[in-house]
Amino acid sequence: MNNYDFVIVGGGSAGCVLANRLSASGKWQVLLLEAGPADSNPFIHVPTGVIPVIRSNALNWKFWTVPQKNCAGRAMFWPRGRTLGGSSSINAMCYIRGHARDYDRWASLGNDGWSYKDVLPYFRKMENFEPIDRVAGARDFHGSGGPLNVAEARYMNPLMTAFVGAAEQAGHLRNQDFNGAQQEGVGYYHVMQRDGQRCSNARAFLQPALGRPNLKVITAAHAAKLLFEGRRAVGVRYLQNGRYAEALARREVILSAGAIGSPQLLLLSGIGPRAQIEQQGIQPLHELPGVGENLQDHLDIHLTWEERTRFAVSLHWTSLWRTLKGIFQYLRGRRGELTSNLAQAGGFLKSDPAEPIPDLQWHFVPFIYAEHGQNLIPLFKHYAFTLMTCFLRPESRGSVRLASADPLQPPQIDANYLAAPRDLEPLVKGFKLARQVLKQAAFAPHRLRELEPGEAVQNDEQIRAYIRARAETVYHPVGTCKMGRDAMAVVDPRLRVHGLSGLRVVDASIMPTLIGGNTNAPTTMIAERAADLILQDAALGIDVPNYAPASAAADVLLEK
Ligand SMILES: Cc1cc2nc3c(=O)[nH]c(=O)nc-3n(C[C@H](O)[C@H](O)[C@H](O)COP(=O)(O)OP(=O)(O)OC[C@H]3O[C@@H](n4cnc5c(N)ncnc54)[C@H](O)[C@@H]3O)c2cc1C
Repeated sequence: MNNYDFVIVGGGSAGCVLANRLSASGKWQVLLLEAGPADSNPFIHVPTGVIPVIRSNALNWKFWTVPQKNCAGRAMFWPRGRTLGGSSSINAMCYIRGHARDYDRWASLGNDGWSYKDVLPYFRKMENFEPIDRVAGARDFHGSGGPLNVAEARYMNPLMTAFVGAAEQAGHLRNQDFNGAQQEGVGYYHVMQRDGQRCSNARAFLQPALGRPNLKVITAAHAAKLLFEGRRAVGVRYLQNGRYAEALARREVILSAGAIGSPQLLLLSGIGPRAQIEQQGIQPLHELPGVGENLQDHLDIHLTWEERTRFAVSLHWTSLWRTLKGIFQYLRGRRGELTSNLAQAGGFLKSDPAEPIPDLQWHFVPFIYAEHGQNLIPLFKHYAFTLMTCFLRPESRGSVRLASADPLQPPQIDANYLAAPRDLEPLVKGFKLARQVLKQAAFAPHRLRELEPGEAVQNDEQIRAYIRARAETVYHPVGTCKMGRDAMAVVDPRLRVHGLSGLRVVDASIMPTLIGGNTNAPTTMIAERAADLILQDAALGIDVPNYAPASAAADVLLEK
């Protein structure tokens, strides 16, 4: 009963896509293992529920980086989803693909089949773009009828309109569709929602497949180690309710545990830099120096203003009536303020007109975003709005390394932010452009005073110091099992782990370079394409493991 064709580790953004696509034909037995619980908490599905969800200990891994030497020695909080849907169940729902050149760059690094021309059909396949007939040119770039619903906001906070107006006053172009012909400009994000609810990858891909007799999902199953026969992955050992169990894979084990979980599990299984593995007392199985290296993330700096019109989202007692109205509207017809993903507006811009493509992204939120929602006190005190700026293609590279051989202990995460000197200046320029926007006439009725950083921060040196002291993640870690052909690559362009068989990695960790935008849609695309590659190989009988469950028989086969 514990034998499957495919065992997928991690029921997050990528894992849910794979569970659906690999089980669709009915031909293959598929198991999905997820460390977290089912996604039954109602706050996951109410878009503004994102704040209580990020605060949850059950639904969030709540990782911390090591102290960041270029960011005033601060350890940084890194939320990651720990439930079906993974981070797509706790994210901000902004639907962004990145720039076409991001994928052409992947292809130019030797990753055949990953250019924008190659991946666009997968972006379209996964998508049901609701406003396809309302957005000019949308049919050339978007799909309809796919599982992931992409919608326009049902409710728009007036501060968002002020932001877009102010950005236009400051000279930025208006863009109706950041995923269309051109990325540059400001406007409103399309959101991964359906009928006013979050459309996580669990809702989009997993839920419709749950009735299939050939798909089994086990939650609260923490994968602890990959099982091997020789150099072939044949299964997974996992912890459930304090006991170990094993699931065997006749064809493949697929790691979709995310940019932190996937390299950690490889390292725990003896795959990675030998010295690091031996240091933890683990038997090395296969030397792959790139496992856990090449970590990249978007670092974000914010400007926060107190506002007078009280349109901001606040926990101040005077907002009680509005909150009750929002709950009523939501319960009556999934309308109103509770359908907001909060980060409703933003844009893509160049830190310097000479940049060939946008290198900065804005997220505008109608509240004070203190410590990723872990500290609510400022929300009780103020009505405020925040403009967040991130640099899209950092050169700094960090790492995920084992801190312990215990699979239940978090790994050591070093984002290594701002290690490359080139990563700081675009943020300084972006900060100044953001400040310019917030000072435009469109904000005049709303503006009270700049709360952060405040008028004392003016010259470049002060701005640099402010960035080092206050910048935070905008939640896009990638790259720790990078795809490629060089010595530091972990998977090949078909996402098979180099030097081993029966094992792939399919999630955000395979991105060789961070794309210019939010990472859920790109991860979903990766899984869509991977599903095709896996099914092609299965149909052709390529790399069939010859694995028989009785290990004695399997040993004989391996010896041949
Ligand atoms: C707070 C937040 C806001 C974000 N906002 C946006 C946004 O607005 N738009 C956007 O596009 N992107 C956003 N992102 C990023 C996006 O959600 C992620 O890039 C994407 O979900 C990554 O997908 P993944 O499949 O690689 O990993 P995940 O979705 O994180 O999935 C990994 C899964 O593996 C499970 N797992 C890990 N280890 C194990 C183990 N040992 N055993 C079993 N299971 C395991 C995890 O519990 C999880 O379910 C945000 C992310 C966060 C955290």
